[in-house]
Amino acid sequence: MARIPDSEIERLKSEVSLERLVEGHGVKLERHGADLRGLCPFHDDREPSLVVTPAKNLWHCLGACQTGGTVIDWVMRAQGVSFRHAVELLRTDAAFTAVPTQAKHSTVVKLPPPVDREAGDAQLLSQVAHFYHETLKGEPEALAYLQKRGLTDAEVIGRFQLGYANRTLGYRLSASNRAAGAEMRGRLQKLGVLRDSGHEHFNGSPVIPIVSPAGEVAQM
Ligand SMILES: [Zn+2]
Repeated sequence: MARIPDSEIERLKSEVSLERLVEGHGVKLERHGADLRGLCPFHDDREPSLVVTPAKNLWHCLGACQTGGTVIDWVMRAQGVSFRHAVELLRTDAAFTAVPTQAKHSTVVKLPPPVDREAGDAQLLSQVAHFYHETLKGEPEALAYLQKRGLTDAEVIGRFQLGYANRTLGYRLSASNRAAGAEMRGRLQKLGVLRDSGHEHFNGSPVIPIVSPAGEVAQM
């Protein structure tokens, strides 16, 4: 792999907004003189010990972590990745799509959202139905429930795209504090997939899509 030029690393350190990065990680920052302060996500923080200095684009944890650094150090810590990987994420803006989690639990590879922003409403519902269908196939308990109700034929389950909602759809959507995530969640609320609270409407239930004669999912 080609070496990343120092100039590129310096550019990222100064140009990528640490404030945006930290907030994208789910940390609420409040102004404190020239600094911003928030709860450090890397330790069990009770009082805001994370200090972000926008003028220098640096952060520091005054609490248990006693560490800090640049945007690169932040991404390494927040996503549990190497220096090089952090630089690549920052270069492609992918560092901003991190799920807010403790570093040790973070997943480096983020699964793509199961729904497509460009899709029309009918297509979107079909994608949700498909996702629920795939979820059902991986949930022995839900399959056993259907079996008890007499739905024992895999072909029927496949043909009618029977599904199961278990909250995983919500986990796979972009966070609601990001524009794309908010837009998608709004659309799914209108379509009745999500409740106004943001929870999945069919949580814990089998889902039966109603398919129009044209083969589109009209409702669930
Ligand atoms: Zn800390």
